[in-house]
Amino acid sequence: MHRQKNSPGALTELSLIRQIRSASLRTPQPRAGARNLVLGIGDDCAILRPPPNHELLVTTDLSLEDRHFRRDLHPPESVGHRALARGLSDLAAMGARPLAAFLSLALPAEMLRTRAGRAWIKRFFAGLQALARLSGAPLAGGDTSESPCDLILADIVLVGSAPAGRALRRSTARPGDLLYVTGSLGGSAAELAAMQAHPSENHPARTVVNNTAHPHLYPHPRLPVGQALLRRRLANAAIDLSDGLSTDLAHLCRESRVGAQIDATALPLHPLAARAARPLDLALHGGEDYELLFAAPAATRVPRTIAGVPIARIGAIVRGSAITLIDSAGRNHPLKPGGWEHFTKKH
Ligand SMILES: [Mg+2]
Repeated sequence: MHRQKNSPGALTELSLIRQIRSASLRTPQPRAGARNLVLGIGDDCAILRPPPNHELLVTTDLSLEDRHFRRDLHPPESVGHRALARGLSDLAAMGARPLAAFLSLALPAEMLRTRAGRAWIKRFFAGLQALARLSGAPLAGGDTSESPCDLILADIVLVGSAPAGRALRRSTARPGDLLYVTGSLGGSAAELAAMQAHPSENHPARTVVNNTAHPHLYPHPRLPVGQALLRRRLANAAIDLSDGLSTDLAHLCRESRVGAQIDATALPLHPLAARAARPLDLALHGGEDYELLFAAPAATRVPRTIAGVPIARIGAIVRGSAITLIDSAGRNHPLKPGGWEHFTKKH
């Protein structure tokens, strides 16, 4: 970051790092996470110690203002929460346990110099830290820079671990497997649509994430479910639903070289989606639900709930490459990836 003359109280890069560090130190980390983080923020590198006989899993996700969030629509707590949730959901999809999170943040110069800007940053970290604490993913480093434009950019890197050779993949579904999803679908798109319809309403700036009332603002990455699928050897393959069921199912099928049949009547609708005009469209194509989609052998007894999360059987993997939706009258329709377009600003 360029050193510039700052008004009193302005954040320099160093003071921002200090602030993050002290926030991070104040955040009591779950034991399991802390054991694996040998050294966090403050040195040139973080030091991680993966559990014996585990492999490291790394994922990175960009959150760009006006692409993934809007400052005039999303509370800062939600922006922080969602930035971390996207990466955690990728770890969940592979059955991994988080070891550490790294955040690189580019902030408009004006935000660093104004009281309102500094308040935004503080609230962003509160949202991020609340989910980090809940998930056992300590913030272990990162970088900050002044953004060359008036846009915020947050890049999250997550490092997790899974027993060697056991991480769940997209490419290992087999014909005859049954398909399941966690939780419910369409809620995020339904909540976002309602927010866009009423942009002036105040949206909740909550850091408590244990509720399902705000699937768009505060999604729940399904880490305990993913870890249970791996530990209990329930799934042949898995993916998280970030772009929407139709798109993510197509990814899984392509990687596994299989087709699928989905039963439209079996899709678990989020209550917000069920009340919307086109619930099925939201469930199939609405993105950012951050649920897990997994394939399990037909002979496997998959419980109705895993780690407290309802599991719904929604279809099956078939030979070939066709992905078919069966409607309530038993008719077959080709299911095309109709993925959610990530959020773009409407002027
Ligand atoms: Mg993913």
